[in-house]
Amino acid sequence: MRIRFWGTRGSLAKPGPSTVRYGGNTSCVEVRVADGTLIILDCGTGAHDLGRSLVASGERPIRGHLLLTHTHWDHIQGFPFFAPLFIPGNEFDVYAAQGLGRRLEDALAGQMEYEYFPVTLGQLDATIRYHELGEGVFDLGAVQVTTRYLNHPGLALGYRLEAGGVAVVYATDHEPHSRHQPEVAGSAHGVPVHREDQRHVEFLAGADLVIHDAQYTLEEYPGKMTWGHSPAELAVDFAVAASVKRLALFHHDPLRDDAALDRLVESCRQRAGASGLDVFGAAEGQTIELAERETVMPRAARQLESAIAKGVRAASATILLVDDDPDIVRLLTMTLRTEDFRLLSASDGNAALEIARAERPDLLLLDWNMPGRNGLEVCRALRAELDPDLRDVPVVLLTAQVGAEDTAAGFAAGVTDYVTKPFKPAHIRSRVHAWLRRKHAGAEGT
Ligand SMILES: [Zn+2]
Ligand SMILES: [Zn+2]
Repeated sequence: MRIRFWGTRGSLAKPGPSTVRYGGNTSCVEVRVADGTLIILDCGTGAHDLGRSLVASGERPIRGHLLLTHTHWDHIQGFPFFAPLFIPGNEFDVYAAQGLGRRLEDALAGQMEYEYFPVTLGQLDATIRYHELGEGVFDLGAVQVTTRYLNHPGLALGYRLEAGGVAVVYATDHEPHSRHQPEVAGSAHGVPVHREDQRHVEFLAGADLVIHDAQYTLEEYPGKMTWGHSPAELAVDFAVAASVKRLALFHHDPLRDDAALDRLVESCRQRAGASGLDVFGAAEGQTIELAERETVMPRAARQLESAIAKGVRAASATILLVDDDPDIVRLLTMTLRTEDFRLLSASDGNAALEIARAERPDLLLLDWNMPGRNGLEVCRALRAELDPDLRDVPVVLLTAQVGAEDTAAGFAAGVTDYVTKPFKPAHIRSRVHAWLRRKHAGAEGT
């Protein structure tokens, strides 16, 4: 497997003398597998040179799979400048998380409307197919692809690619779920407390290479929480906990020049210590070869269909909002109202249980500290119900309590997710969609 970085910068392209070594182009990574399968991870401005290189290679027709984490600018701005899309006969499959109410094709067409770009999406000559994904596993040629929701204020997917016994994980535009980690992380690279962070470690587990969001430093992070990006030091902790072999720090902040990145890489190497993790800063133009070890076992291909998001119809989802603070209920209502959910609300734990039993919501957003029963007691009562609809309903605890013990207590009470206040509306939206889609996929599977 050959991996080449064509764009490593986050948020905004940043060319110039101070970013020459690590590069100024935004996210784009080329992955080539022994059987010839071409996978492109994100389509930021780095895709311009990748496209030129593919055309110059003389390969005809060019067939590839474009896996987008999400459709924020820095991950799609290279799309209209990707030369192979203008050549008839070429074929591309484009994949991304099923968005929040907008089709992938429409989201990409948006940046190519007349006011912004002279060529519309429909005028591209290559054959392009669009696929909207949820969490799942499917095969592209010899590559097994596993998708996993990331923690970002826009529904984003990470990708784990496995072929010939080699595993590469691409997880950018992600931040840790716990807020308490910066204090405890330095002490040990142990298993995180938050269930979603544990899932992240499982997603990275044993990978030969992890390309991970590392936009901030731990020092900068307190001012950037909920922006959806990781401090590099915590990417190291996750990689060590997951026994990853090599970690590429990625999605470099536009303000981080080459010298500052050198310092960040050095401090991350020290943090990795004797763990055996090899840390480096992903640099534009850098190529990594990973020897594919095993011959591919003949097995039935996993069909893409299993990972295709089964359009969750917002109108069919009932969400119960529970908080004794009317401002929070109002904020949540405003955040979710645009999407046609059926919203119910309660201001104390007893009322919440009554409404839940009567209305059987698909999801609860539940405050911890309330009069009457508190959030944890409500959750324990739900988990003791006989009816599986109630017993297994996803419960997202909303709380101002950030301690590791608090987080552990929340999960022990049976919460599905633990979100610390204050939160951003965009973050809540993507968490709600992730949980509804997971619930829906789970119901399909049973
Ligand atoms: Zn980004
Ligand atoms: Zn983003």
